[in-house]
Amino acid sequence: MTTAMADDTQKERLRIGFAAAEVAPFSKTGGLADVASALPLELHRRGHDVRVFTPLHGTIDLDRFPFVPVEFLQDIPIQLGPYRVTFSAYVGRAPGTDLDLYFIHCPELFFRDSIYTGDADEFLRFALLNHAVFTCCQRMGWAPHVLHANDWHTALLPLFRRTLYAWDQLFAGTRTVLTIHNIAYQGAFPARIVDDLGLAAHRQLLHQDDLAAGVVNFLKTGILWADVVSTVSETYAREICTPAFGVGIDGLLRQRGGSVIGIVNGVDYSTWDPTNDPHLPQRYGIDDLAAGKKANKAALLAGSHLAPTDGPLFGIVSRLTHQKGLDLLEAPLAGMLRHRRDTRLVALGSGEASLEQMFLDLASKFPDRVAFHRGYNEPLAHQIEAAADVFLMPSRFEPCGLNQLYSLRYGTAPLVRRTGGLADTVAHFDRDHGEGNGFVFNHADSSGVGWALEQALALWPDRDAWHRMRTNGMKRDFSWQRQATPYENLYRLLAAGA
Ligand code: ADP
Repeated sequence: MTTAMADDTQKERLRIGFAAAEVAPFSKTGGLADVASALPLELHRRGHDVRVFTPLHGTIDLDRFPFVPVEFLQDIPIQLGPYRVTFSAYVGRAPGTDLDLYFIHCPELFFRDSIYTGDADEFLRFALLNHAVFTCCQRMGWAPHVLHANDWHTALLPLFRRTLYAWDQLFAGTRTVLTIHNIAYQGAFPARIVDDLGLAAHRQLLHQDDLAAGVVNFLKTGILWADVVSTVSETYAREICTPAFGVGIDGLLRQRGGSVIGIVNGVDYSTWDPTNDPHLPQRYGIDDLAAGKKANKAALLAGSHLAPTDGPLFGIVSRLTHQKGLDLLEAPLAGMLRHRRDTRLVALGSGEASLEQMFLDLASKFPDRVAFHRGYNEPLAHQIEAAADVFLMPSRFEPCGLNQLYSLRYGTAPLVRRTGGLADTVAHFDRDHGEGNGFVFNHADSSGVGWALEQALALWPDRDAWHRMRTNGMKRDFSWQRQATPYENLYRLLAAGA
């Protein structure tokens, strides 16, 4: 490329199509929704032409968010094998933003009780989303430089571009990125659905060993055909290329070698900032940190019917799944609560029955010191981040993790396992040098967690060191203003044909 051409590509307004199964604040089960909301918005602010495609789920509050039908994207038929479905697109905007999001409206597929289902047509629901992305682009006459797929739900985009939509010159220059937010979810279905995906004539492009075993795996298909595969932290990018973390896909990822890259997620500091957080009883910043945290802690303890304390408050906000390693907490937490009457725990989450039971048991054993809020509660998540002294995240694996990034901004020390994005963002506090921003243990077992809890309890009386640790965290910048740049650079490289 000549220098003049390189300069042009540096300035060019990129056309980026971004597809995801969930987008906050409309639909959310986890970090994917936060990324799908904040990254496109930041790219839009930088002047790029970004169009986000996501389902109009039945769980979205239609009274809260106004949606406007796109006139030329109504009642569009798509043939999926023997199934003929019709979709329409509506435009919506997140409050306070001016980025148009395209919501794919297909009540028969997307009006369910939850975003993800175990229903027999789960593959069809998301196959439609992949088709709808191309069809909307065609009807808009819009040629994206990059189509960015996220997780298995949109991982057919790369193969669709090379097959079903390859005839259309509109996509001749389109390159694809697939970001893996969590490799544990792959979208594996019986191979007989290949016809319904419209891929009968392209079977040779699917993973052949899988087909022979009677399986088609959306995520693997994406990994096979995306121009670039990325994931949400550098450590996780390395981990998923190993059998211990690759959930059966590590071999395929190793084959892709250098094109699997890691980019740590950013935080939307317009939503997660203690100086400006409408959910907090008292807002605070680095200058009034001690007083601010004290007030939030008192309010959360009172609101959770727990006794006041000058000891440390531990917080949890999490999906309750095996991944999160919360079962490893049971023995060390019970031991701590028995021996240290000044400690408190407030946990928020829902999920696996055994984990819910574990928190219910702790709350009934220590009624004035442990509170378990079962469910999903956005304001309470903010209040816990603000009130807690230590945020517990002992994940077995963690692609990036957002909660520890929120904790850092809220002056709350994350206690994490050295894995994935946790390893890339939290450093164990070194008292001698005043460096580090939390507590980090290595092994996914109770003694690892127990060791880290002891470290936290031992540091607690040293208020100067504690203050230093949490201000170290508050000063780190994980904003999307910063973290969007590697994505932008990647898109530019792809758009330039690199
Ligand atoms: P994951 O995507 O694996 O669930 P992350 O840490 O990347 O984990 O993101 C979790 C997101 O979901 C955060 O924004 C967190 O605050 C939110 N969250 C998880 N559980 C709850 C809950 N019970 N109530 C409110 N927010 C929750």
